[in-house]
Amino acid sequence: MSLSLSNVDERPITFAQEVVLAVDKLDAEQVAGPFAVRLEGRVLPMDGGYLVDGSMEAEGPLVCVRCLVPVPWKGKDRFSVELRHPLDAADEEMELGEGDLDVVFITDDQLDVERLAAEQVMLNLPMRILCQPECAGLCPQCGANKNQEGSCQCEPEVDPRWEALRGLDGLPS
Ligand SMILES: [Zn+2]
Ligand SMILES: [Zn+2]
Repeated sequence: MSLSLSNVDERPITFAQEVVLAVDKLDAEQVAGPFAVRLEGRVLPMDGGYLVDGSMEAEGPLVCVRCLVPVPWKGKDRFSVELRHPLDAADEEMELGEGDLDVVFITDDQLDVERLAAEQVMLNLPMRILCQPECAGLCPQCGANKNQEGSCQCEPEVDPRWEALRGLDGLPS
């Protein structure tokens, strides 16, 4: 899904679009299913490209880092992104890095809405998410979800080095 920018020089474009991002558009290790994303914003002409600013709202399932179950997540943020033609960027390299602007290089006068949505979601995902503060994680031996009562009968793991010392005199057993 993309938005033609060829008329932006005459007047700014505003847009409001909803996209659904499949897991493979995001990060399959962090994301458990499709994300619904709403993007709103406007596009203004600028030297060497375009300025896109607006807001995104996203909702979808993430993966608990300990037990791997899906955890619903919602986020929203504002963004400001420059779309530049690569040649212009090389010419003006020294001017980049001001403020919080992200720069995206474009080869045609199109705004790739899906790509913008995916980038904004990735920027806003938490580093790690837990299904509950006390998530017990998975059993290291059989992989069962320890949050479920009676999930497995595995004995707690014993460090084999400790086991070897246990028979020696004078050491606690
Ligand atoms: Zn968990
Ligand atoms: Zn187990």
